[in-house]
Amino acid sequence: MAPPPAEARFRLLYVSPERFERQLWALRRLGLRGISMSEGLARLRNGTARGCVVLTFDDGYTDATTTAAPLMQRYGFTGTCYVVTGALGAFNHWDADYLGERKPLMTHTQLGEWLAAGMEVGSHSVSHRRLQELPQEAALEEIAGSRDALRSLCGVRAEHFAYPFGQFGAETVELVQRAGYSSAVTVQPGAARGSDDPLRLPRILVNGERGLWSYLLHAASPYARLRRAH
Ligand SMILES: [Zn+2]
Repeated sequence: MAPPPAEARFRLLYVSPERFERQLWALRRLGLRGISMSEGLARLRNGTARGCVVLTFDDGYTDATTTAAPLMQRYGFTGTCYVVTGALGAFNHWDADYLGERKPLMTHTQLGEWLAAGMEVGSHSVSHRRLQELPQEAALEEIAGSRDALRSLCGVRAEHFAYPFGQFGAETVELVQRAGYSSAVTVQPGAARGSDDPLRLPRILVNGERGLWSYLLHAASPYARLRRAH
């Protein structure tokens, strides 16, 4: 199997608002509903995930709050945004050089607006470092520390984690479990099934380069259960 594509290439900002709305419209036309990871996980476990698509956003860009949330609300959809707790109100310092672009990240206030819109927040670590390359203690701080931060910042219990750069190993998975998360998403392509390890969930990447028809083809697949809108 080919290695998963670099996470940096699949961002919400590469999907225009118009295209994102067309995708939401298409999902609804297909009888599919966009939901949060909490609901998706519960449905995967009890076998009622059919017709549901988990919408996830990594990094916590400002436009998740300003653009995506209002559109999702219009369609009655929810979703989960994985934020980098140490970078709220800052920019994508971990790949700005690679992308040649500094993109604004949600402020604490915008994170509150995301939650107030009925959306869910998950953790994407404290500082978006490559967890496999860190000593265990530092990796645990990245994983558990961001969960603590979300509790003190917004009073929410973050149950879901997204691996920075999609990278993880057996040790990382164990730390995520130790920190108390219920699920963790990767960038390994695929639709999640009830039999999957909840701490290694695959996702389907949606980017601006992929045409709407290709997206619909995926959305219409009977195996499509959980996917990533980016
Ligand atoms: Zn990321």
